[in-house]
Amino acid sequence: MSSYWSDFVKDLEPYSPGEQPQHSNITKLNTNENPYGPSPAVLQAISQMANDDLRRYPPADAQQLRQKIADYYQLSSAQVFVGNGSDEVLAHIFNGLLNHPQKGPLLFPDISYSFYPVYCQLYGIDFEKVPLSADFCVDLTDYERANGGIIFPNPNAPTGILLGLDAIEALLQKNTQSVVVVDEAYIDFGGQTAASLIKKYSNLLVVQTLSKSRSLAGIRVGFAMGSEQLIEGLDRVKNSFNSYPLGHLQIAAAIAAFNDEDYFQNTRQQVIAQRQQLNTQLEALGFEVLPSQANFLFTRHSRYGAKDLSHRLREQGIIVRHFNQPRIEEFLRITLGTEAQNKQLIEALKLIVS
Ligand code: PMP
Repeated sequence: MSSYWSDFVKDLEPYSPGEQPQHSNITKLNTNENPYGPSPAVLQAISQMANDDLRRYPPADAQQLRQKIADYYQLSSAQVFVGNGSDEVLAHIFNGLLNHPQKGPLLFPDISYSFYPVYCQLYGIDFEKVPLSADFCVDLTDYERANGGIIFPNPNAPTGILLGLDAIEALLQKNTQSVVVVDEAYIDFGGQTAASLIKKYSNLLVVQTLSKSRSLAGIRVGFAMGSEQLIEGLDRVKNSFNSYPLGHLQIAAAIAAFNDEDYFQNTRQQVIAQRQQLNTQLEALGFEVLPSQANFLFTRHSRYGAKDLSHRLREQGIIVRHFNQPRIEEFLRITLGTEAQNKQLIEALKLIVS
């Protein structure tokens, strides 16, 4: 605590991201990164951009990247917003589109991305957590009430459970007076994007990231897609905060990632295949595994506590994520690794639970 801090800083409870150990002999299955590296075309684009032009500011509107994403999702570039990771995009969304106390609280699931309440605190947004059903599903009919906005990940994190587009559209038909944000950080691992609904619903905003399915967590690019009025609102917030959230290297890397469709499809399919295999192997060891459409599995064991399991895995050089939070303290969230990493995980668990 410092007397130099503004009053509100004293009360902030920041988000704590998963650990990023610096030594490479750790099997890191804790932050939902892609186990495969970025496309070689992305690395080439970055090295080509590493030249004298770096003395210049990047294009403030990252128009070329916006257009690339717009073409990919059959939208116009005025329907796309880009930022420094989807965390930054989400921050601007909370600040600019989800703070409507006169309409009601912002609604999001009680078990969900734990950054949401942190943004609410940062921007002074009144919120209410809506409990997941007993089987850990988001039931969107629970959100049909007065609200200042709605946000949920699809698939949800950390459960991995996916909602169909029909459920999302049913909510949009009823909820027309506030913004509905679908956080699709993990959608490419098995779901259908809600981007196709944007032309019908001007209050829908779809958020995605290049950190997961496009293997670029280290480059920091995220984006939002929605009606021109929503995107213009986000641009106003961004241009009051940082004119240049994306540098030349980020923009070049992101465009190259969208250009290499084959690499994207191949790595995505490998992760999906690994998910099925690991799911079966965990069940054979007595784990219950929630049905995941993401690049991680959320799992618990009837006889071994999750905290203890995570400590014992760490002793064997494997880190997974444990949330010390009511309702889910008995679960581990395990990011899918390469085939070899998943094998190492199963071998380690066999020693512990048998
Ligand atoms: N949304 C969800 C649901 C996430 O799990 C994450 C990753 N922690 C993010 C958004 C943010 O990802 P990034 O900032 O890397 O784009």
